[in-house]
Amino acid sequence: MTSVAAAAARTILTRLHEVMASRSHAQAKLNTVVEVIGRGLDSEVCSIYLLREGMLELFATRGLAQEAVHVTRMAVGEGLVGTIAEKTETLNLAEAAAHPDFSYRSETGEEKFHSFAGVPIVRHQRAVGVLSVQHVEPRRYEEVEIEALQTVAMVLSELISNAGLVDDESALSASSALTGPELLRGLTLVKGLASGIAVYHQPRVTIEHIVAEDTEAERQRVYHAFDKMREQIDRMASQAEFGVGGEHEEVLETYRMFAYDEGWARRINDAIDSGLTAEAAIERVQQRTRMRMRQIDDPRLADRMHDLEDLSNRLLRIVSGQLGTAAAKGLRGDAILIARNLGPAELLEYDRRRLKGVILEEGSLTAHVVIVARAMGVPVLGRVRGLRGLVREGDQLLLDGDEGTATVRPAPVMVEAFEARFAKSRERQAAYAALRDVEPFTRDGTRITVMINAGLRDDIPNLGFTGADGIGLFRTEFQFLVSATLPARERQTRLYRDVLEAAGDKPVVFRTVDIGGDKVLPYLRHDDGAGEENPAMGWRALRVALERDGLLKSQARALLEASAGRTLNVMFPMVSEPWEFDAAKAVFDRQLAFLKSRKKVLPEAIRFGAMLEVPALAEQLDVLAPKLSFLSIGTNDLTQFLFAADRANPKLAERYDWLSPSILRFLRRVMLNLEGTGVDVTICGEMGGRRLEALALMGIGLRRLSITPAAVGPIKELVRRVDLEEIGQAMAGWLAAPPPSLRAALLDWACARGISCD
Ligand code: PEP
Ligand code: MG
Repeated sequence: MTSVAAAAARTILTRLHEVMASRSHAQAKLNTVVEVIGRGLDSEVCSIYLLREGMLELFATRGLAQEAVHVTRMAVGEGLVGTIAEKTETLNLAEAAAHPDFSYRSETGEEKFHSFAGVPIVRHQRAVGVLSVQHVEPRRYEEVEIEALQTVAMVLSELISNAGLVDDESALSASSALTGPELLRGLTLVKGLASGIAVYHQPRVTIEHIVAEDTEAERQRVYHAFDKMREQIDRMASQAEFGVGGEHEEVLETYRMFAYDEGWARRINDAIDSGLTAEAAIERVQQRTRMRMRQIDDPRLADRMHDLEDLSNRLLRIVSGQLGTAAAKGLRGDAILIARNLGPAELLEYDRRRLKGVILEEGSLTAHVVIVARAMGVPVLGRVRGLRGLVREGDQLLLDGDEGTATVRPAPVMVEAFEARFAKSRERQAAYAALRDVEPFTRDGTRITVMINAGLRDDIPNLGFTGADGIGLFRTEFQFLVSATLPARERQTRLYRDVLEAAGDKPVVFRTVDIGGDKVLPYLRHDDGAGEENPAMGWRALRVALERDGLLKSQARALLEASAGRTLNVMFPMVSEPWEFDAAKAVFDRQLAFLKSRKKVLPEAIRFGAMLEVPALAEQLDVLAPKLSFLSIGTNDLTQFLFAADRANPKLAERYDWLSPSILRFLRRVMLNLEGTGVDVTICGEMGGRRLEALALMGIGLRRLSITPAAVGPIKELVRRVDLEEIGQAMAGWLAAPPPSLRAALLDWACARGISCD
């Protein structure tokens, strides 16, 4: 905002302040307000339209016929005023009648006025009215005048609401119905259906006060908030090896650029000069940027805009002290969470009973937040462009994770249709649940082992619900992720013991902590690895555990003690060379010797395994195999390394197919190399829980799968339809001479046999 506009706005604001503080009644105040604004902006006409019972009603005017007041009413979307409200957009026209949306109202006597400018009066991000000015002379208003008008409209929104002229609640519902349904398209990250109310993970700040009492004090507040925000961003960037909240380096760089952008700070300062509070000034500048960006059609700029929007919200939260996420505030009803991206720990903070779905602007299939959501049974739609511009807090949402869509503000017929689909899907789920006690034998009589992946105490009942053969991957780091501090050894022991007890005779494979990559532990500083450029292939998992061996030691003790009198299955993540396996096993051996010396009850047996996630290990399986009881293939990591494609990078989310000959040939070679060694091989990546992928895996010889609990029913059903001999031959053919699309070939093959693989 330039200083001229600031001065004009400031004069008007001071006068408005006086008017609103006066004792006259609301209508009299509005009559004075239009006079003040009209005079201040040197306009013959100034009018205020407010939303009443879903219509925009002329509440006060200077310059138009007074008989029109409370008589002229427009629907939202009708005429210029209605268009401004509908689109929450500013119009600035030299010749109003030439605009296609112009609608002439004879009672107002407005024909002699040529130019027209109008801005929405916004409350809770929805238009509750319109402020307009008109001129006889046909000229567009100057940008500075428009800015002054926008600032005044902001103030008006507070004054109008304080005077009870618009009821916030009805404004909310009226205007949300106005915008109508909208279909969002994205990438299905977790299948399933859900309906609920949109809740922003980072709630938008409600601005309480708009007009400043003390301009200097507001300036200081913004200075301090800027300092704090810069500190936060710098800290996030220095911890980037743990991918804070799933954000990527590129985003952090942009954050940094904006956080130190003097132009942005100066514009906020100017807005404070015009008489706004710190909060209102930040919002005012943001509104202006939003408006400008809307006129530029460049997707890269749109991304930048989101970054600035994030940062502006962060600044608002700091300055207003409204810091908590929606999880901290608690969910009040069935909710669909809206975020740009999330970290797994952030998702786990939500109340599982109320969190029905998640929609992300980013996200990828194997990002840990998505794995956690899958384990929680929460459908996730990702990669929804412009999400936060299309959904508002409190909007109703129908999330269709099967189709990869979501409907915002659905019409009643849409809700009905959705409910019908929902009921169908529940029936399907019930059919799968009925397979609980059915053992998964293939048509030719081979028993396939189907286990589940888990990580939290809450996951344990899934073993009973699904009838799975055990827990093939227990991600022990989840306990660390959900704790505010490093879990003490006793707490670890208690969890492991409870899991083993609940599992009874069924095996549980504990994986030692795999932190790093996109799994952030805020309480564990990793100075040694700070600033890593590629955290997923950096200092993580076993690499951390072997260096911080206090962590592994205490986990080894906890696991050994919890398994007293039972079999302990333990495996190490991200083993790259056999010596790393040896070193980790040695930590267990030493703890075992210690417990023995103390005459403690020991595990009945200990089975050590390794995860095959780093391709290099495949070249030394002959060395490693004799030391192993089992091998678990983590295809989430393995495939990201095979393809050199960051699993958490949304830009690559759809790039590579798990059904690629490269992956399947690689896996088949591993199977062949281990033939006759007695080492059990399991797939525990997300791939194994998808029907078509599972079919391919069975075709190359895999007989053990550890998958997300929701996939157990569908996979058991699949197993029972498969003839291993037949799929084995088909796969051998396709891998010897790959067809253009292995996925398409496999799908045809499945369809021809009545096996549905959507
Ligand atoms: C994997 O990488 O496939 C795996 C199962 O481990 P995580 O997803 O926890 O990295
Ligand atoms: Mg992994």
